[in-house]
Amino acid sequence: MARARSGADLGPLLFDVGPPPSREGLFALVALNKPVEREFTYSTPPELAPHVAPGMRVVVPFGPQSEIGVVVGLAERTEHDPARIKPLARLLDERPMVDAELLALTRWIAERYACSWGEALHAVLPAALKREQGSAKVIVARAAPGVGAEQLAELEVKQPKQHRLLRTLLELGGPMELRELCQQLNLSDSAAQTLRKRGWVVLEKVAARLDEYETARAVRPRPAALHPMQTAALARLVPVLERREHGAFLLQGVTGSGKTEVYLALIERALALGRGAIVLVPEIALTPQTVGWFRARFESVAVLHSRMSDAQRLRAWTRVASGEARVVVGARSALFAPMKDIGVIVVDEEHEPSFKQGSTPRYHARDVAVERARRVGAVCVLGSATPSLESWHAAREGALTLLELPERISGHGFPPIEIVDVRTEPVGPTGHKLFSRRLLTLLGETLARGEQVILFQNRRGFAPVLWCAGCKQTVRCPNCDVALAWHQRIGRLVCHACCEETRQPKACPTCSKPGLHYVGAGAERIEVEIARVAPTARVRRMDSDTMKRREDYESTLAAFGAGEIDVLVGTQMIAKGLDFPRVTLVGIISADSALHLPEFRAAERTFQLISQVSGRAGRGELAGRIVVQTMTPTHPAIALAAAHDFAGFAALESEQRAELSYPPHGRLVRLVFEDVNEKAVIDGAREFADFLRSRLESASDGAPEHEVRVLGPAPAPIAQYRGRHRHHLLLKLPTHACDAALAALRAVRGELRSLAPTIDVDPVSML
Ligand code: ADP
Ligand code: ZN
Repeated sequence: MARARSGADLGPLLFDVGPPPSREGLFALVALNKPVEREFTYSTPPELAPHVAPGMRVVVPFGPQSEIGVVVGLAERTEHDPARIKPLARLLDERPMVDAELLALTRWIAERYACSWGEALHAVLPAALKREQGSAKVIVARAAPGVGAEQLAELEVKQPKQHRLLRTLLELGGPMELRELCQQLNLSDSAAQTLRKRGWVVLEKVAARLDEYETARAVRPRPAALHPMQTAALARLVPVLERREHGAFLLQGVTGSGKTEVYLALIERALALGRGAIVLVPEIALTPQTVGWFRARFESVAVLHSRMSDAQRLRAWTRVASGEARVVVGARSALFAPMKDIGVIVVDEEHEPSFKQGSTPRYHARDVAVERARRVGAVCVLGSATPSLESWHAAREGALTLLELPERISGHGFPPIEIVDVRTEPVGPTGHKLFSRRLLTLLGETLARGEQVILFQNRRGFAPVLWCAGCKQTVRCPNCDVALAWHQRIGRLVCHACCEETRQPKACPTCSKPGLHYVGAGAERIEVEIARVAPTARVRRMDSDTMKRREDYESTLAAFGAGEIDVLVGTQMIAKGLDFPRVTLVGIISADSALHLPEFRAAERTFQLISQVSGRAGRGELAGRIVVQTMTPTHPAIALAAAHDFAGFAALESEQRAELSYPPHGRLVRLVFEDVNEKAVIDGAREFADFLRSRLESASDGAPEHEVRVLGPAPAPIAQYRGRHRHHLLLKLPTHACDAALAALRAVRGELRSLAPTIDVDPVSML
């Protein structure tokens, strides 16, 4: 085994271009899923040489082990000593799994997001393709019959992890896929295995359903005619598609303005031209309803998302690769569907943070979508009612073409948003500490008319904070630098960072004083309190505590749609895409809750959430009302959202970002260093910073507009997570000259491999 030259100067690559003159002494460059900015060179044994091609998976010796990698190039010569080069062990594919286009795109991702080519490829290939064999089965877990309170009590103190798992299963009252469950509870599967051995949990292998959206039915009739706004937007999009050119568009349309119909019409045109389409929606919006809209209109739609089993994903992937499915609808990773001749790529709700991947490679699907469309000559449409500041800025600079749908199709206009300053609300017997008088009045009226209500509170649990009046401390997670939240229904204190739980303390853990105060209100408390002020209303809560399984989420939405629920209380899970005509009141309980997070996008996020949540009201014939409760009524994110003034907010926010060279006026790279030993973290982060500074200096051409600034290291806002200390570095890069800096960063990462920071280019979360 020997290293090939770095990715930037690979030399003669043979990408499917004509037959190689000689296949003797052919060398394969293989990308491995390792944080090393290089590909590895292997020789091809004579029996494999005639068959090997870029894009195929191979098994190669790597140190004492073997690894699966992807051939990214073939070369007739190598600069390495041939005697030291090992041969490929095995070829896994007959035909390339990844074509030249996706190979090139993953290489771009590696450069853009400072990871290795192999890491980027790993994100693109469906799981079953990475390992040698994918399984068609999934493991589901359920509580064994007769198991209950007694077993829980036994686990409560000594086995908190098993307790958490068993308690959740008992609550669910039915089976759940183990992998998904462990992911949500932040557990490895050893807790489940132990419980199985004790006979308290049953684990079963069941065949994965090949298509979980089989039953997705049409719910959206084709409109008799397009609205003139829609026609105007299509008049800009279709000619670009027909000329087979690339165009990147920002479709800014208020909620209910008919964006989906524009996507459908554009895709219809693409299919008529023999071209395909990829539609990305936020994971939470990938419901049977959404899939149904596409399935009703187009014959063969493949669905791709990260929760699929290996077999499901492999099947969808194969259907796309074979050309059978020409429309793909999916979450973030569906962007990498192996589709030929893509005509359209849509990113709906492009401002959604979930388009950013949270593990290496930390790509942003919106940005990669534009890049893939550019490479293949496709039309890319980014749709949103409240575009990200990045896209808004790109539209002003001309990088995106702005198309607007300024009105609702229904012609009803927007329901009024009323701001209530909760600081001036009466307390005591005449008032309610969570609900303003105005909200209570409207709630009573709405319920009396038999209409529906959505109440939004973007915090989980009953009380987000427990506070001791004695020592003035909050009760914190022993392993993480966050306050523990009180979850009343399960009677546990929960860390929202690591998911660990503890029992309710009788006294302050710091000063032993009894009588802790439960401060603030999460969605659980709103649910409890609403049942008190409106005892006859049917109330349901929708957050990640109550909606662990996708089915629960979908059945709750169905029940709400069928009018079986009067008041839906929830976190941001209810902000997205719900379209229920009988919802006429939306209440935002505390609009400020996201405003004070140490994130530079806090105001933008708040503006988006208020706009999205209020967009749920008055979507049908009935007029709607929105009440926004806040302690900072004049904050621009709140006041301008209430005035439906996106342009005003974007301009103001952009000005403030410009002063600090924050995105969209500069780019950021965040590096996080973690270790149980705090000194090791600080030393490591310093060493990395110094090394990087010197590299950047020598790479710099001295022009101030190309200057890269390295800020820190400093403790991260969440300075400890699962017992590991966290420090971070922030790089501020000028927007137009990042390539050299990113190359330097990748090089330093390769050289200081033992420090292994998490590198996040264009970070979405700064915590
Ligand atoms: P958005 O995605 O912008 O929120 P939708 O595409 O969901 O908006 O459209 C809002 C509503 O208007 C939907 O109920 C849809 O069926 C309806 N609609 C869309 N286009 C038309 C049209 N041309 N004529 C009549 N109704 C339409
Ligand atoms: Zn914790």
